Amino acid sequence: MIRLTNVSKTVQSGSEQLTILHALDLHIPTGQFVAVVGPSGSGKSTLLGLIAGLDSPTSGEIVLNGQNITRMGEDQLAEFRGQYVGFVFQSFHLIPSLTAYENILVPLEIMGFPRAVKRAQSLLDEVGLHDRGHHYPSQLSGGERQRVAIARAFANEPQLLLADEPTGNLDSKNGAHIFELLLNLNHERGATLLLVTHDHQLAGLADRKISLSDGRIVSDELSGRAGEWERGRFENLLSLSHSTTLPLPEKEGAQ
Ligand code: ADP
Ligand code: MG
Repeated sequence: MIRLTNVSKTVQSGSEQLTILHALDLHIPTGQFVAVVGPSGSGKSTLLGLIAGLDSPTSGEIVLNGQNITRMGEDQLAEFRGQYVGFVFQSFHLIPSLTAYENILVPLEIMGFPRAVKRAQSLLDEVGLHDRGHHYPSQLSGGERQRVAIARAFANEPQLLLADEPTGNLDSKNGAHIFELLLNLNHERGATLLLVTHDHQLAGLADRKISLSDGRIVSDELSGRAGEWERGRFENLLSLSHSTTLPLPEKEGAQ
């Protein structure tokens, strides 16, 4: 569950105060798949950054999973994010001195995730990069970097996944595959998914579409398909010939 109350963001731009997000209220129930659309500069990335707790609002409160993140200190927030939130940045934010594999592995190890090595390897396989694991971000294409960023965001099995144009740099085949991974996380794990996209076809598959313009929510529509997602329909739309599931992490003692 995500609840924003009276949340706004104003920044100093030269000598002027610039409001990039006007005060808004928003409630997103657990498990909802929300597409966030709007022209460039309308505040989409700002909104996602606030919900992820990467940035703090100028006014208002943000409650995630019953916890008020606006009141958390840095350490508490970092721990909460590690457990609950996955974030795919528009600009990837990979660590340049770590290989693709290490970019996925290190956060898992920091969280003390069981069998982190195996998990990192299977996530790399899942995004189609099993033979690129030893490459550094500078040696990867934009699309490959994006897939590493997506694998990293999935690594902690987040209950909330925030993805800022995650298929923007991918060709249609890789884009469809990544999108299917996102949907699996949403439909099979019940994760809440907030997806910024310019792709109207992808936005049309969401339970709900929120449109931003000049820092305001100008429309908020539930799709007719909310809650009655049909896999066949999705596969037809994207012409997928295969299906995939995210690798389940092996928990100690699991059968
Ligand atoms: P979107 O993701 O929809 O393209 P953003 O959320 O990135 O939009 O940005 C919204 C507006 O706020 C843009 O005009 C952007 O230039 C401006 N903006 C974002 N962050 C800052 C900042 N730290 N300082 C000044 N302006 C900013
Ligand atoms: Mg943006």
